[in-house]
Amino acid sequence: MKDQYGRTVDYLRLSVTDLCSYRCQYCMPAEGVRKLRHEDILSVEECVEIAHAASRCGVTKVRITGGEPLVRRGILDICRGIAAIPEVRELCLTTNGALLPELAASLREAGVQRLNISLDTLRPERFRAMTRGGELNQAMDGIAAAERAGFSDLKLNTVLIGGFNDDELGDFLALTMEHPWELRFIELMPMGPCAHWDRGCFLPCRTVLERFPALEPIEARGVALRYRLPAAKGTVGLISPLSHTFCSQCRRIRVTSDGKLKGCLHSQEEIPLRGLHGQALEETIRRGILSKPQEHHLTERSSDTPRNMNQIGG
Ligand code: SAM
Ligand code: SF4
Repeated sequence: MKDQYGRTVDYLRLSVTDLCSYRCQYCMPAEGVRKLRHEDILSVEECVEIAHAASRCGVTKVRITGGEPLVRRGILDICRGIAAIPEVRELCLTTNGALLPELAASLREAGVQRLNISLDTLRPERFRAMTRGGELNQAMDGIAAAERAGFSDLKLNTVLIGGFNDDELGDFLALTMEHPWELRFIELMPMGPCAHWDRGCFLPCRTVLERFPALEPIEARGVALRYRLPAAKGTVGLISPLSHTFCSQCRRIRVTSDGKLKGCLHSQEEIPLRGLHGQALEETIRRGILSKPQEHHLTERSSDTPRNMNQIGG
């Protein structure tokens, strides 16, 4: 269905947990998050029911996210349940990759069609520092496991952070010469722990084009402008929520792991969905779509949401 600004909304991002095996510095506080009570988190059945109701409102694509979705108990049942909804034509999942060696094949059997794997650095010591304890080789093993399981259209998400990984752009681009992956550079958004980081950390995606003029534009996909190096097997995607606001093309709604519908990642507005079923649930989702804000205000100030990214789902 369309929202009040005429945008078609057909994409649900569903957070299935706010917990994570990592504590990425820009995403989570160092001490982690207080574990919500089991009953405060959407159950497997509620996750599927919400996706079902959203599909009746026109949603055809669902991305499962978190926190780290692969630490969520019942993740395969959630995937199976959503994959079985006839209107859902695309089921994707975003992960830090650490548990893919165990889970990639089962995720594919459960109906997940595409994976995005986060990878902010190719240097083990930086990886450890940014994730506060993660191991780069786990993420790389996860990527290999995803390929073995048959996930062919892999996207790797790299948040561009000035002074942290901007000296690795060449190493990331080199990966696209060898592998048919899409390397996606994402602008760091000022929210949660990084809301007040030094301005120098917030690099515009055009930095990649300025440093690598050999990148040739190819067709855009969703909110990503896409490029390719000559003779490369893979592609480069640039996602610029700050410097190139794509709000006018936004097709998304989000549901947090405690069951709140958000029309925009950055707004304070949240509509509780828990306890609603059938027609009432569907009507509330329609109301959420209709009240989707026109745009965010990240160019003027930090995100208006009081939540960290792990609580909403990036
Ligand atoms: N744990 C999974 C992962 O890391 O892929 C899924 C959840 S994570 C919140 C989803 C994505 O949001 C990751 O690619 C992460 O890098 C990105 N992210 C988190 N905080 C961000 C921020 N402040 N600005 C831009 N991207 C952010
Ligand atoms: Fe965890 Fe993903 Fe946040 Fe990193 S970005 S702390 S992996 S939820």
